[in-house]
Amino acid sequence: MTARCDLAIVGAGFAGLVAARRAAERGLDVLVLDRKAEPGRPVHTTGILTAEAASLLPDLPPALLAAVPGIRLYAPNRRFVDLAAPGYGFFATDTPNLLRWLAAAAAGAGARLAWDRRVTAARRTADGIALDDGAGGVSARYVLGADGARSAVAEAFGLGRNRRFLVGLEAEYEGLGGVDGAALHCFLHRRIAPGYIGWAVPGTGGIVQLGLAARRAEPPALDAFVRHASGVFDFAKARIVARRSGLIPVGGRVRPAGAARVLLIGDAAGAVSPLTAGGIFPALEAAPRAADAIADFLSGRAPDPAFTLPATYPRYRTKALLRRALDLGPPDWLVDATLGTRPAQALARLVYFHTKGLKRRDGWRALAAPTQPLRDTPRRP
Ligand SMILES: Cc1cc2nc3c(=O)[nH]c(=O)nc-3n(C[C@H](O)[C@H](O)[C@H](O)COP(=O)(O)OP(=O)(O)OC[C@H]3O[C@@H](n4cnc5c(N)ncnc54)[C@H](O)[C@@H]3O)c2cc1C
Repeated sequence: MTARCDLAIVGAGFAGLVAARRAAERGLDVLVLDRKAEPGRPVHTTGILTAEAASLLPDLPPALLAAVPGIRLYAPNRRFVDLAAPGYGFFATDTPNLLRWLAAAAAGAGARLAWDRRVTAARRTADGIALDDGAGGVSARYVLGADGARSAVAEAFGLGRNRRFLVGLEAEYEGLGGVDGAALHCFLHRRIAPGYIGWAVPGTGGIVQLGLAARRAEPPALDAFVRHASGVFDFAKARIVARRSGLIPVGGRVRPAGAARVLLIGDAAGAVSPLTAGGIFPALEAAPRAADAIADFLSGRAPDPAFTLPATYPRYRTKALLRRALDLGPPDWLVDATLGTRPAQALARLVYFHTKGLKRRDGWRALAAPTQPLRDTPRRP
């Protein structure tokens, strides 16, 4: 039997679940559809929250977060520099349980969540929009496409599509030794991670997430990165317990990101920093605004946000330019030679500790921080 609702949200990721909670709190009858069998499984993200992103989830249980104050940035020759900014930091997350918690919060607010529902087609009907979901179908007054980098909603309604991607691959390790828990470990290496970086994230519960992303034309070589990282970390007792992978859209905002009674948010709308590949903050930030605007529209108090809200999504103009520079990528020898210099470290601070969310004074102080000497990683047998 066809399910009816005010708002059908396709995708139970960060964007979809936060929007579902807010829309249900606003009194809408909300139905969330996801192709996954359960929330947070499998996970397709490293799940690092910036300080700004974490502040958007104030009631998140602390056990789901591990604070990581700084960045350890490695040159291709594995010499490194430690970077930090006053008042700023990152959080590694227990991402599967974070998504379960977001799902429970949405359900607690009254949203209905339907798993194992892949939306394959959609069309307009006399009284709204019909979705094919592999079950009895859904009839909705409004559809929010929160279905990620390759949005079926965007395809069904002829909306803008993501065209440029990085591919990310990650392994979760137990027993990986020598990983300083006070830093996100970021590895510059053009040959191993062209267009992006490799990383090691000291996560929650003693897990270390080790991964890399690279331009789509050059699939990332996790084995080569593990060999590289074995000059820094101790893999003697390391055991892989899970793997994650996914596409990261880095082409910027898609156009159009909406049509009558259909709106895209999050990765589906291309709202991901082309430079850092961070998309959780923009998803969390846009989701309640989209839910509020849809509730206002459906109650006749405001025009359809599909034609106005996308203009408020980040444009990433400067970051898109820097992305092109990264795609070309400086040669590894140049990074080895320059990472110890003031301009290189100022650029790194700008990328990792952008001034947004900091008091401007603190932000500039961070950028003007003294240059750190490059340090050698301890030799491993
Ligand atoms: C390897 C990797 C690491 C990353 N690390 C970080 C990071 O550390 N920090 C950060 O800020 N960003 C990171 N990102 C980006 C970040 O994960 C995304 O920007 C973020 O998840 C976007 O949230 P979303 O809700 O828009 O989409 P998603 O989280 O992608 O959620 C989309 C949901 O839609 C569902 N879906 C898709 N198609 C359909 C369909 N046809 N029918 C029904 N359901 C469907 C999917 O199952 C999924 O649950 C990373 C991305 C990757 C790939």
